[in-house]
Amino acid sequence: KFDRTPLIAGNWKMNMDHVQGITLLQKLAWTLADANHDFDRVEVAVFPPFTDLRGVQTLVAGDDLPVVYGAQDLSPHDSGAYTGDISGQFLSRLGCRYVLVGHSERRAIHGESDALLATKVAAALRHCLVPVLCVGEALEIRQAGSHVEHTLEQLRGSLAGVTAEQAASLVIAYEPVWAIGTGEVAGPADAQEMCAAIRNELSELYDTATAARTRLLYGGSVKASNAAQILRERDVDGVLVGGASLDVAEFANIVRFEH
Ligand code: PEP
Repeated sequence: KFDRTPLIAGNWKMNMDHVQGITLLQKLAWTLADANHDFDRVEVAVFPPFTDLRGVQTLVAGDDLPVVYGAQDLSPHDSGAYTGDISGQFLSRLGCRYVLVGHSERRAIHGESDALLATKVAAALRHCLVPVLCVGEALEIRQAGSHVEHTLEQLRGSLAGVTAEQAASLVIAYEPVWAIGTGEVAGPADAQEMCAAIRNELSELYDTATAARTRLLYGGSVKASNAAQILRERDVDGVLVGGASLDVAEFANIVRFEH
C-alpha cells in the first residue's frame, strides 16, 4: 500500500474567488510548513475554480510551494467553438497536474454520462493531466444493494479506451453521492469494500500490476476526525475533501492524518 503515495485532495467547488483562494492556499502552505509536513510522503492537491488557477500558478511558482493543483472539470475538446468550456491544453499550460472528471455534482447537474466522461479522460491524458475519475452510487442504489455493480459499471464506462499504462497513472475517487456534503460519512469498511472492488475490477480490465499502482481515494464528508480511520484501510490511498478543504486548520489536520 505504501508504494502508492497517499493523496489528500481538496475540492473547493464553486467557493473562493481568486483573492480568497490565494489567501487560503498561502495559509495552508504555511501551516503545513510549520508542521514540517513531508510533501513527498503525503501529496497535497487543491482543486480551485477555473478563475483562480492563474493566481494559484503564480503563487505556487513564485513561492516554490510543494502543493500541486488541478481543475474541477475540462472539455473533451482541445479548442474551437465551445463557448464557456475550458480545454485540457489550457489547464496543462497553467501548470495543473490533475483534473477532476465526473464529479457527482457534474453527473447530476450537467447530466454527464460515462460515455462523455471517457472522452474527458482521453482529453486529460492527451494533455498530460492526471484524471481524478469520480464514481459512486446514490442512496437508492445502496439501499437496493447494487452499489458495487453500479459503481463498477461507471468505472468501466468512463475508462473505455484507456490503456493499462494510462490506468496505472490514474486516480479514481469513490464518492458515494449520499455522503457528499451531507455530513454522512461512509464507514471505513464501506470505503474499503468499494476500493477493493474497484482494484479487483482494474486487475480484470488490465492486470494485477496495473491495479496495484492505481491510486484510489475515498470522498464524502471527510473531516480531520474521521480521515485517519478511513486512510488506514488497505485499498484507500487518499481522500477527496469538499467542505473541510475550505478550513485551513481542518484540512491541514487531514493532511497530517498520521500524527
Ligand atoms: C466532494 O466534493 O468531492 C466531497 C467529497 O464533498 P464533501 O467533503 O463536502 O462531502
